[in-house]
Amino acid sequence: MNLAWPNLCQICEKPLVQGEKHLCMNCLYELPKADFKSFRMNIAADRFYGKIPFEKITAGFLYQKESKVQTVLELLKYKGEKELGECLGSFSGSRIVSAGFFKDIDLIVPVPLHKDKAKKRGYNQSEWIAKGLSQISGIPYDSTHLHRVVKNPTQTTKNIWERWENAQGLFELRDTETFSGKHILLVDDVLTSGSTLCACGQTILKAPEARISFFALALA
Ligand SMILES: [Zn+2]
Repeated sequence: MNLAWPNLCQICEKPLVQGEKHLCMNCLYELPKADFKSFRMNIAADRFYGKIPFEKITAGFLYQKESKVQTVLELLKYKGEKELGECLGSFSGSRIVSAGFFKDIDLIVPVPLHKDKAKKRGYNQSEWIAKGLSQISGIPYDSTHLHRVVKNPTQTTKNIWERWENAQGLFELRDTETFSGKHILLVDDVLTSGSTLCACGQTILKAPEARISFFALALA
């Protein structure tokens, strides 16, 4: 298709100009940003206090229904547009790098999909976001040592308490060596209740002297 047509913005479908990739500048700048003033005290951090020890947390965008953020997340998750994850990951990363967000972080780890789901979708969207963050920060990412061992298909229909309960035992560390003594940045696409990131974090913290921080592409 790209041979016959110019590349179009995936939101507004206007032709992209040189230097633009996937999204036009206009749409990119119109996406509502999270822009937290602190990486310790913010509305995303509130979801984790008292539940798990963590170093810092931030998000790229604010998720609003019927907004352009919803459009890009649907493209990323359900329409095969995995490279959008990389693009938005590096864009969001570039906005927090100078504030020192990546300082002290040793390894970026995307929230894994269950292998059946990854096979069906063909990719893990969080891994592509992690890839973008890795490019901007120069910090490596690892998507092979944390595994999702339980399928969790009906999260959206559950209430918040059922979600937390449902998230226990979801993940497994196959090699603690990779994470021990390291500060790990866990990456997810959308942060809602926080139960998935929390379950992931608890699993990582089984590695001796590991510390965790969180990044979500969008905060719902
Ligand atoms: Zn556009």
